[in-house]
Amino acid sequence: MSDCIFCKIAAGEIPSRKVYEDGELIAFHDVNPVAPVHFMIVPKEHIDSLESCHARHELLLGRILLLVPVLAKEQGLNDGFKTVINTGKGGGQVVFHLHVHVIGGGKLSHV
Ligand code: 5GP
Ligand code: ZN
Repeated sequence: MSDCIFCKIAAGEIPSRKVYEDGELIAFHDVNPVAPVHFMIVPKEHIDSLESCHARHELLLGRILLLVPVLAKEQGLNDGFKTVINTGKGGGQVVFHLHVHVIGGGKLSHV
């Protein structure tokens, strides 16, 4: 997706404060953090949202979720964290490239 901001970040065309990268995934800090620690885990493959995932994405989705606590600990979130996936306009999604928010280090809303 040529006009997708997260594809451009994944390709290194737009700079980001990177937390992690491998062949399939990249994680970077949110430019507009809602808590002291706020980063996102993003598949390098362009997938619009959770609604666009198929059975072939099962392993990728599992890898993302297993990476969450590993990176959260690395970022100093030893007391827990919040994990959020906004899906669709009604779900508050703004960037239509699948991403998992990892948020912590401060007082958070209940949900
Ligand atoms: P969404 O509401 O789609 O789940 O959240 C998208 C998030 O991406 C927002 O929290 C927003 O601050 C973040 N974001 C938007 N553009 C950029 C960018 O260019 N770089 C980074 N690091 N984050 C971005
Ligand atoms: Zn994309």
